[in-house]
Amino acid sequence: MIKVAFFDTKVYDSDSFNSQLDPKRIKMKYFSTKLDEDTASMAKGYDVVCAFVNDDLGETVINKLADLGVKLIAMRCAGYNNVDFKTAYKKIHILRVPAYSPYAVAEHAFALLLTLNRKTHKAYNRTKENNFNLNGLTGFDLHGKTFGIIGTGRIGCIVAQIAHGFGMNILAFDSYPKEIDYIKYVELDELLAQSDVISLHCPLTNDTHHIINHDAIKKMKKNVVLINTSRGGLVDAKALVHALKHEEIGATGLDVYEEEANFFFEDLSATTVKDDVLARLLSFNNVLLTSHQAFLTKEALSNIASTTLQNIYDFFDNKELKNEICYQCKEVGNQKDCAHVVNGRCF
Ligand code: NAD
Repeated sequence: MIKVAFFDTKVYDSDSFNSQLDPKRIKMKYFSTKLDEDTASMAKGYDVVCAFVNDDLGETVINKLADLGVKLIAMRCAGYNNVDFKTAYKKIHILRVPAYSPYAVAEHAFALLLTLNRKTHKAYNRTKENNFNLNGLTGFDLHGKTFGIIGTGRIGCIVAQIAHGFGMNILAFDSYPKEIDYIKYVELDELLAQSDVISLHCPLTNDTHHIINHDAIKKMKKNVVLINTSRGGLVDAKALVHALKHEEIGATGLDVYEEEANFFFEDLSATTVKDDVLARLLSFNNVLLTSHQAFLTKEALSNIASTTLQNIYDFFDNKELKNEICYQCKEVGNQKDCAHVVNGRCF
């Protein structure tokens, strides 16, 4: 029996995993708490830790898990910026779900854009109060405008497809351009200067940390709509607040926030937000913030559960680990090729 400690569990997680797991093979223990230095000891006696985007998988936690005999960390997400791969190397294998529904995230980026642009959130509240006035609800046609995409991977390409459907001109910045006839690749500065909408779809790495900072914002059009459904650390939130305060940016839709781990996924409605930057962001009426929910569709949850479970079965069946990553893997930013190419496992 494979014993799995599942951290940061929400009802939708346990529902989708329970509906798919083989109870003869896996015993899943769901913990509602996040994984961190204080809670890592809860993994004692478990073979696998299943973790999510805001769990702490830094050096201390990974060393604790390794000491407890945990063999595998099964990330039930695509991003891995919260994992210390160097510490994990040769101690604990790290698997992830590289793609579960790029459509879910791409469509959410448009949910944010369309809401901000056509102000349907304001209209909803107004009409509920019998206020049928239209003042202040003017948007702009997306058709004919320029949509800038930073990172044209799985999600970015679907965003491009949707924007193309709206009749927008698409500019993109990515070190690995794709041959798609409706995407024009340009340098970052040109994308920043030309775009009416900018949407971030690159991973958070040392290179992309604060890719949107004071300088980048200064290069943008004054009425630009900035959408971030990727990772909070891509945007310098203080610089964004400054730009919003000085009306240097049209609107922003954020599904992620640099310091989200302390807030997102929790109901804190009975308390006050202690983070001044987050509180300030929430005070602007041209900011729409969602709580890292871009992934949250039925299809994505089902795919997350099936791939995570398959990853775990493959590990214990000594099969090739298709979704393993380590610090030697090219994707994580290392120049060296990983042993995976030869062995089917990173180590
Ligand atoms: P992907 O790996 O398919 O694509 C990432 C793209 O970014 C690649 O084309 C890569 O070449 C490009 N890139 C890397 N570094 C770059 C740089 N410095 N500048 C420009 N482009 C760069 O990843 P994906 O599946 O499309 O996911 C993208 C990101 O979306 C993930 O890293 C994750 O952080 C985020 N995500 C968020 C949610 C959510 O719920 N909000 C869900 C899933 C993924």
